[in-house]
Amino acid sequence: MSHSFSQHQLRDGVVLPHVLNKAPKGTKAWVLHLGYLQADAGWFKRGGNTSLMSNPKGPEAPERRDLIMYSVLIEHPTEGLILWETGCGKDYPEVWGAPLNDIFARSRYEPEHELEAAIAATGHSIKDVTQVIIGHLHLDHAGGLENFRKTDIPIWVHERELKSAFFSCATGADRGVYLPHYLSLDELNWKCFDDRTVDFAQGITLHHLPGHTDGLIGMQLNLENDGTFFFVSDHAHIMDNYKPGVPQGWLARDHQAWFNSNQRLQRMEKTTGGLVIPGHDLEAVEPLLGRVLS
Ligand SMILES: [Zn+2]
Repeated sequence: MSHSFSQHQLRDGVVLPHVLNKAPKGTKAWVLHLGYLQADAGWFKRGGNTSLMSNPKGPEAPERRDLIMYSVLIEHPTEGLILWETGCGKDYPEVWGAPLNDIFARSRYEPEHELEAAIAATGHSIKDVTQVIIGHLHLDHAGGLENFRKTDIPIWVHERELKSAFFSCATGADRGVYLPHYLSLDELNWKCFDDRTVDFAQGITLHHLPGHTDGLIGMQLNLENDGTFFFVSDHAHIMDNYKPGVPQGWLARDHQAWFNSNQRLQRMEKTTGGLVIPGHDLEAVEPLLGRVLS
């Protein structure tokens, strides 16, 4: 990746704030592997596994998708250790329970996929995390918040996401995708913002991308050597959602908002030359595992 785009933008005096916001020297980031899930493709792609007049039974073998779960750990010279999302948390099959753990099945799992172990593999301790940012509060991204109960560590989330999650748990509005066990009222130090774009820290910009959920945000990370990344949580589960722009299937919620967010993200990708990383795409995420991004 290069930042040659910056040269012409600098020359023409059109550098956007989120392009200029570079992480300080010494910033490092790791993409942490938190395990695999597998589910019917119909959840992630509109029309997946559908039947047709010419093929009324649908595909002979319904397509299933392997998904990866990940977090991003950022060692930041002035902010300390920032964690982007937390994965699904411990004891997944028991905590999620039936039928969730059969619909979204944990397909491959090793102890090293636990958040604590994945952080330890980078030479850090989960106890040294200073701030957590959550893209959206669905269980496979926020279940690991259980690690931060009673720690007073700030948990940053968009105000609309926190409201959606608590509302859903209280009323059953979107039963299953938000679970009460990690949405503690009194043991987590919730922090909210309501901005469309947040300059969270030097090199880190958060973008509100509503659609998959009302308060979903993506994290833009501008690194000195490796360039710009957009970790977009489940704005896109898989790359097909982002480009060519196949809407999500049974997990889609507000389509119009999602469509607008997708267009906006494509513009941001263009102005930064950044790399968009969906929430669960194997081909996008696996090449980043085991690397130290800087
Ligand atoms: Zn997800």
